[in-house]
Amino acid sequence: MTPRDRVLAALKGEEVDRIPASAVTQVGTVVAMEKIGAYWPAAHSDPEQMAELGASLYKLAGLETARIPFCLTVQAEALGCKVNIGTNDRQPSVVGHPAMPPDQLPDNFLNSGRIPVVIKATEILRKSYPDLPKMVGMEGPFTLAGHLIGIENLMMMMIRQRDAVLRVLGICTKANIEYAKALIEAGAEVAVPCDPTASPDLMSPKDFSSIVKPRLKELAQAITSRGGVGVLHICGGVQKILKEMAEVGFDALSIEEKVDVAAAKAVIGPRPALVGNISAAKTLFLGKPEQVREEAKRAIAAGINVLAPGCGIAPRTPLENIRALVDAST
Ligand SMILES: [Zn+2]
Repeated sequence: MTPRDRVLAALKGEEVDRIPASAVTQVGTVVAMEKIGAYWPAAHSDPEQMAELGASLYKLAGLETARIPFCLTVQAEALGCKVNIGTNDRQPSVVGHPAMPPDQLPDNFLNSGRIPVVIKATEILRKSYPDLPKMVGMEGPFTLAGHLIGIENLMMMMIRQRDAVLRVLGICTKANIEYAKALIEAGAEVAVPCDPTASPDLMSPKDFSSIVKPRLKELAQAITSRGGVGVLHICGGVQKILKEMAEVGFDALSIEEKVDVAAAKAVIGPRPALVGNISAAKTLFLGKPEQVREEAKRAIAAGINVLAPGCGIAPRTPLENIRALVDAST
């Protein structure tokens, strides 16, 4: 099997020759930037550099992925947020919200900000890396809403102005769907909405169920009905919403090390597939290759479908640790 076929099959819960070692979350590292000559922050705005850095960990360590972009700010910026583009080891971040959130999705949304860059980079990956799974990450609806009106504001409005929250969330979901459609058309095989702001660490499971879940359902439907594979990533200890996440309709869920793989399997059953859950901060960034191998072997034994970092790879992660993750899968 090619890495592409192996990863796509594993995400869909189909038979594979072995568990793939991949990443559905951010993959840019400083060592890779230096080795292949594609650097942050330029790679956030240059499609060629974005594509090459997105495939770099396959070239340098055998990680079965071509994954772009390297931040969760692309749609936010296109909808009027101010973004600090960061440095070679600091990701872009939202530093300012529009005075008023948009009351509808602008007609030129797909031509705004860095959206054309990500679409172009996806097309480059499609041409240059036929054997790698082409994955594109994006802010999920609730995280995008948090970018547009500020997370604290959003949490306050959840209590006092629920209708206004629902309105903004509706526009964010529309943005997500339009963006996902364009990415799939450009050659993205896997769409990965990341919705960290919807984690039980930040919002109640009850609100997740009533407000976020229906929107994620629309998004999952839009992705899968166009032949895309959908992977939902929510950070933190998501045990309390795991069952709800499984009901949304994504092919796979990407989870952190806070979630026990065997326990999660017991809750959701064989589908959706589980992706993760090697600690990106403790093990991959700060640990020794031997620790990476041990943690990876444990995840495989517990039934993980795709071996991967539990969250975005830290930019200063050593290459040996990525190689150890790959070793553990072969
Ligand atoms: Zn995460």
